[in-house]
Amino acid sequence: MTTPIASVSIAARATLDMHSLNNEGGEGNQIQTRMVDIVDHLGELHNVNAISGDMLKHVLMEHFFQQARAHHLPLCQSCQHFNTNRINADKEFLKRVEAEKVKDADFIDQVLQTCAIDDVAGVLVTENRSLPRKSITEFGWVIGLPDRVSTNSYFHAKYVAERSAEKRAEDAEGQKTGANLGQSIFHRPASSGIYAIVCHLELARIGYNDIKQTYAIEESERQRRAAILLESLLYTFIELNGAMRSTQLPHLVALEGVLTASTGVIPAPLISPLIGGSNDHSTYRQQVSEITAALNGREHEQVSVQNFDTIGDFATQMRSFIDSSSPFTLAVGR
Ligand SMILES: [Zn+2]
Repeated sequence: MTTPIASVSIAARATLDMHSLNNEGGEGNQIQTRMVDIVDHLGELHNVNAISGDMLKHVLMEHFFQQARAHHLPLCQSCQHFNTNRINADKEFLKRVEAEKVKDADFIDQVLQTCAIDDVAGVLVTENRSLPRKSITEFGWVIGLPDRVSTNSYFHAKYVAERSAEKRAEDAEGQKTGANLGQSIFHRPASSGIYAIVCHLELARIGYNDIKQTYAIEESERQRRAAILLESLLYTFIELNGAMRSTQLPHLVALEGVLTASTGVIPAPLISPLIGGSNDHSTYRQQVSEITAALNGREHEQVSVQNFDTIGDFATQMRSFIDSSSPFTLAVGR
């Protein structure tokens, strides 16, 4: 027996050491890290290290893609190669719907039936029409807690064994074509700190056509996509793919937070784990509990709340949550 879940929210603080998940490109041989301005709960402005939500969503979709292939979920031709243009790059699909003069509402049905990634990650179809599929998964910026993050730049070198005059001249010639074969030095940043993470998943909308207000896929297929999406979310927290992982695999040192789930149309509450400030672990979680109690009122409990204090605790709770959940079915239009 599973519990139908409409939405899930996670607010967490993760301690990540020596990661480089947020590089935003380079100037010369100096790679820049990403800094953002935030205002804390007391109204004070801070400039802190951050990782964009795009990065986390990309990580989630990478895991989802691997799972979707392993479990034979339908994927459009573009997503079969993990092309981020999604169904916009599936020329055959677009040609066919154009030839059949498919209306917008039916077009969305066909997108949802054709591709699980376009369903859960969303897409803006731009060829011959402008039609959005709103994402089911949402991530905010991953924001460093004020005074709890530090970024330094580290010197690296690429050594080349053969350094004869002929070889150097040959490498210099290759430089013109961008071959970059010579010896080189570069600086690369790495950051360590405590980061605030927010994310929200709308399981009720898996396979849901927002124009028709009906589901385009079978219940069993919705269940498969929901289970794989939650599983991928668990992997995202415990295996943060991202930039420069080949030599700067992040050290995940600690993870704590709160998970809320709604079994109906009340949204699963989500507030920022920045609340309370850098030294206070409990206020944001306490407030989530208060909001949950207020939302439930005296009615049958629709929103549940669970705290987690360690990485293992999070994984254990997610496991039982995944195994006991199914996607909630919205009342469909008639
Ligand atoms: Zn696709």
